[in-house]
Amino acid sequence: MTARQKDEKIRCDACPVMCYIAEGKSGACDRYANDDGKIVRLDPLTILDRRLAAGDQVKPFLGAGWDGGFDQSDQMFVTAVGAGTTYPDYKPAPFIISREIEGVDFVTVVTEAIFSYCGVKVKIDTDRHLGKEGAIVRCNGEAVGLMITSEYGSQMLSLGGVDHLTGGSKQEGRTTCDTLTRMCNREAVELTIDDGATVTVQAGEAPIVNGVAEKRMRVGCGSATIGMFASQWKGLVDEVVVVDDHITGVVSEHQAGKVINWPETGIKIKGRRSTPGRYFQVAEPGLGWGGTDIQDPLTILGDWSPKKGARPGLTLLMVSTTGDQFAYFELDEELQPQAKPLPQTLRPSVDLITENCEPALCTVLFMGGAGGSLRAGATKNPVKLTRSVQAQHTAVSCGGVPAYVWPGGGITIMLDVLNLPDNAFGYVPTPALVAPLEFTVSRADYLELGGHDSAIRSIAEAVETGSEYGANSQLIAPGANSLLTRDDDDG
Ligand code: SF4
Repeated sequence: MTARQKDEKIRCDACPVMCYIAEGKSGACDRYANDDGKIVRLDPLTILDRRLAAGDQVKPFLGAGWDGGFDQSDQMFVTAVGAGTTYPDYKPAPFIISREIEGVDFVTVVTEAIFSYCGVKVKIDTDRHLGKEGAIVRCNGEAVGLMITSEYGSQMLSLGGVDHLTGGSKQEGRTTCDTLTRMCNREAVELTIDDGATVTVQAGEAPIVNGVAEKRMRVGCGSATIGMFASQWKGLVDEVVVVDDHITGVVSEHQAGKVINWPETGIKIKGRRSTPGRYFQVAEPGLGWGGTDIQDPLTILGDWSPKKGARPGLTLLMVSTTGDQFAYFELDEELQPQAKPLPQTLRPSVDLITENCEPALCTVLFMGGAGGSLRAGATKNPVKLTRSVQAQHTAVSCGGVPAYVWPGGGITIMLDVLNLPDNAFGYVPTPALVAPLEFTVSRADYLELGGHDSAIRSIAEAVETGSEYGANSQLIAPGANSLLTRDDDDG
């Protein structure tokens, strides 16, 4: 190579940014580089090999040096991780692989797709109040999404989307793209919620709310907790209140207490009574008992009524929906609750609430629209691919993980990032995410929908010759990402 050639930059056309890259350097996304005057994909093509066990080492190889055999190609799946792209989409996907599964010839179209329309849905298992529905979620001060409807024991975020990627300032788009990429690659990301909490989210790990790791997901709402455990409290205590920001339960009034003849106690709960023994809005949402803002549970009680059963010596257990907080009281002569140590007889019931809580986790689902121009990399008639996916003749996966395809128009997919190989996601500075995408269809159907038949290759051929972006490959076991492997080691 001459000195002049060495200085010459070459253009990468794997995304609209069109970086000019000098010899030995990588482009703006760090995924492509100039290697001796050729644009190459830096990460190896990842092939899942079901013959490997999850704990096995990754097996890197170059096509020409591979002697592991492809005789069992039904056990191998070429993912799009490291495959390269169809961009600018007029050309067939980098890998269109044929393999026989149970006597039927299948084709898998493999490409790394650039998603301008994408985001993540995040489920955070915690009772602690993170923010109001609709509140803006930020990363490094930039708006990247919002709080959406709470689910049972979890709070939900919707992050990303084309409005944040392209519709705001340049910095908002960049920050959103970076946040999504890191979350999809299972990194920990700190988010702040307007007028709410700071939460560190990492797929498969416990959320950290205002610096405190959440341990448990609640056993259920306050009403459900009463329903589950009422009979275990009967005879041990006169009243039980399960404090919950959504539905606080009171055993003496609740139907679960009525059916076991629980006597009235004359208790009064401040809050909006929904049905007997079930109260909404006993306090403001917060980081205290049961997702409320209270530290002292007695603040949700009104005056006790002697006419309805209140009497000196009456005992009361107040407990949160995780069992993390509990307190025991006896009414004095003035019918004022006085704190007492929790009797040993009640300890097992509090422990049972805790035991019934599952570990609190963060779940990150990638969601993206795969119905755009990348379809041209699979077929000359893109709408036929869409229809084939909708008719479930074509399966969609990302990094070998089957994707949920939303009903209705387009190819809108969703999947749990926890199951993908490591670093499966990338980005381009347009800004947009890059995600692995595979379409698998019978060969007969593929040809019927106008597939690129002349580009179909066997796995052996594909590994041998690679793509226009090089021929590095690696074999991994399905589900062998570092997080899963590490969990295996732990347990
Ligand atoms: S950002 Fe990456 S994919 Fe896009 S042109 Fe530059 S190196 Fe190529």
